[in-house]
Amino acid sequence: MSGTTATDPDPDPDPAEALRTAAADGVDFDGLEATRHDDGFHLAVPDASYDDLSASAFLDATRGHEAYVENWFFWHQHAPQDDASWAFLRWIERPDDPVPERCERLADGTTREWGQLLVEARTDEGGQRRYDLRHVDDADADVATLSVHTDPTDARRIRKTDGNGRYRPLSTAPTLARGWIFDDLDPTALVRAVEGFYPATIQNWHRERAGDLDVAHWHETISRQTGIYGVVQTWDRGEGHDHVNWVAEACCADSQCLKRREWEYDEETPLNVPGGDGVFPCREPCSLVIATARRWTRMEAEQARTYEFDLTPSEKAQIEAIIDAVADGRTDEIREADTSDGANRYRARYLRAKRFDDAGNLCGVPTENDEAE
Ligand code: SF4
Repeated sequence: MSGTTATDPDPDPDPAEALRTAAADGVDFDGLEATRHDDGFHLAVPDASYDDLSASAFLDATRGHEAYVENWFFWHQHAPQDDASWAFLRWIERPDDPVPERCERLADGTTREWGQLLVEARTDEGGQRRYDLRHVDDADADVATLSVHTDPTDARRIRKTDGNGRYRPLSTAPTLARGWIFDDLDPTALVRAVEGFYPATIQNWHRERAGDLDVAHWHETISRQTGIYGVVQTWDRGEGHDHVNWVAEACCADSQCLKRREWEYDEETPLNVPGGDGVFPCREPCSLVIATARRWTRMEAEQARTYEFDLTPSEKAQIEAIIDAVADGRTDEIREADTSDGANRYRARYLRAKRFDDAGNLCGVPTENDEAE
């Protein structure tokens, strides 16, 4: 950030007077320049410039350029001054556009998506920035139909369960419940609410923009695991690290997680599945992925066997359709009446009735597991 830093002994100083004070150190921000020289003050905006101003003439000259002065004042006196929050709030407003254009947009309300969150920034009647935060799918919902929150700490509670009340183990899974709004937040409260939904995303996004994201790749992360998690190290044995590719494809795809995976197998060895298109990065395998990999380690240690099943072509295709439907989370969408869909419940029950024996073996073929040998 450029210009002065926030030193705010007066809780609500006049913006023009605050600018005059800051001019002693020099201000150059979003097209506004203010400096103090031996001959007086200098003030400039893109279409006007004033020199050798007395202290009172400086205040007079700011009239007509309030948009620039108030914009500078907000970013240096009211906005949170830590770099990540500051950059995030600026990003919401698309700061590359000229200040007057941005002011007009803010008067109407301007929006940005952050995962499944929709942030709306606007200026109130007093010219102060205020923020609304809601689920992106509730963009057009009447506020009267939403539960209204003003305490940003509520975000953490909302993120814990999905729309059906089920626990969400991954805060960035695209399963955030709808039906709520954080209304009329100040800038600090907005940042806290966003971090309540998606912890550390603003910090990591900012670090990445600054070229400073410290990525911990799979091998490095797994090598740190000790005790019960040490078993995951067996995954490093896979041919071409196939197991790691498969777990990334299963858990980290955009359909499962809104973070953009930046970690790879190691610094020199990229995985062969896409990292996703999320706004904010993932800097290391998360605890869900590690715990999941651990659970699957036992299965991955098994050797493949040859089984022989008698299935019609439609039955084979049906088994594939069932696996697809479960993997894509579509089972709830398949209508009971749609018995042509392989994953339809009645069709699945028919297949089970026809092809399972009383012990639940497909085509009566017993499962050979390692313990049986
Ligand atoms: S490791 Fe994968 S699932 Fe976990 S937060 Fe990162 S991208 Fe999401």
